[in-house]
Amino acid sequence: MHPEAEIRRRTFLTATLAVLLGPAVRPVWGACPVTATNPEGPFYVPGAPFRNRLAPPELPGKRLQISGRVLGADGCNPLAGAVLDVWHADSEGHYFGLEAPRPLAPEEYLLRGRIRTGADGRYAFDTILPGNYRMGRNWARARHIHLIVSHPPGRRLTTQLYFAGDPLNKTDPLVKSSLVIPLRETGEGLAGTFDITLP
Ligand code: FE
Repeated sequence: MHPEAEIRRRTFLTATLAVLLGPAVRPVWGACPVTATNPEGPFYVPGAPFRNRLAPPELPGKRLQISGRVLGADGCNPLAGAVLDVWHADSEGHYFGLEAPRPLAPEEYLLRGRIRTGADGRYAFDTILPGNYRMGRNWARARHIHLIVSHPPGRRLTTQLYFAGDPLNKTDPLVKSSLVIPLRETGEGLAGTFDITLP
């Protein structure tokens, strides 16, 4: 077959396939790369309560809402019942609940919480914008939120989420560009979207 005719035939077949599959079915090939991982770090406390408000109203800081979907890499399908275990520092870079005796009481899990995705794989939580903190003399952390995202029976991914515009994104060696999201002003604070694809 002439090369141009072959290209036209392939284009036609691809278009036909797209029509047959419909817009609801997203392509499997490479469209949902697994979310990049990042270390858990030393400040995780297991057992946080299930809730989608991580910061009490009196806690100082810029209000922040993060929302998105949890997807499976095998077909980009939304994962219902996935659990996001989320924790982060306050606006001054301090973590709560580190010194208190264990187990922590629910009110001691400040800026920590677990969120379950709905039937459509969506999640949302409200909190405050985390501050920067130092890990050593030569290492300052960019603003970040820690997440362990799991879906039964065995999918699990540990990562950190970063925010565009933080100057420390350029120098914190843990920052990966695919984990940096833009934030928008909503009138009530900042909001950002982060879709997570599990392996
Ligand atoms: Fe941290």
